[in-house]
Amino acid sequence: MINVNNLKKVYRTDEIETTSLNDINFKIDEGEFVAVMGPSGCGKSTLLNILGLLDKPTSGDYEFNGVMASSLGGKQRTLLLKGNIGFIFQSFNLIDDLTVFENVELPLLYQKVPKSERKQKVEEILKKVDILHRKNHFPNQLSGGQQQRVAVARAIVSEPKLILADEPTGNLDSENGNDVIEIIKKLNEEGATIVMVTHSNHDASFAKRIIRLFDGKIVEDSINEKVLAN
Ligand code: ADP
Ligand code: MG
Repeated sequence: MINVNNLKKVYRTDEIETTSLNDINFKIDEGEFVAVMGPSGCGKSTLLNILGLLDKPTSGDYEFNGVMASSLGGKQRTLLLKGNIGFIFQSFNLIDDLTVFENVELPLLYQKVPKSERKQKVEEILKKVDILHRKNHFPNQLSGGQQQRVAVARAIVSEPKLILADEPTGNLDSENGNDVIEIIKKLNEEGATIVMVTHSNHDASFAKRIIRLFDGKIVEDSINEKVLAN
């Protein structure tokens, strides 16, 4: 599903040059659950943003489902994203003046899904993440845990094959964090491929594989024995 070769990302701002990623190589097969770990500033978000086509590498290749994603232009990029990749952020990133229902409906509107089908799909997904009873509320009327459920619903409503999550529990207390991780784990069991950035050893313990970055490089890529033992 994912094939990354010699990926490098350099940020240039004025005279300062930061090599955020260097010499990154890995493959991820369909159905994997990978945790990306490492200290703050080591390049985790940069990597996830490139995998989610939100950013481009400076050099190297990123192949997604056999398509050379790193060299796509805007329109082809949008086409590839649609229904293929769902993104969950630490800060939820919901739209404040849209209701819960409308926030989750957005990806389906972009895909021109007919109205009756949209309603059915959105309600089904809201039910799945246990937030259907709040469908007419606005994000600022919800707790952080509830907002992240809505963000998860929005990321999965078009049934993406790949779900990217950047510290999805980072702004949540442990109880809400656990609920969100349980949802992500269940999505993986249903067949979705998950790549999740996390600082939390607890969250990472749900992943079957751990990729650890340090200073822009991969320093560990290993099977999570604890999960296998379960
Ligand atoms: P992490 O998510 O692991 O904390 P990031 O991927 O956000 O790390 O950042 C990796 C490095 O790249 C850091 O040194 C950061 O300052 C730098 N960086 C990230 N985004 C930008 C940007 N848009 N412009 C310049 N430097 C950036
Ligand atoms: Mg980050």
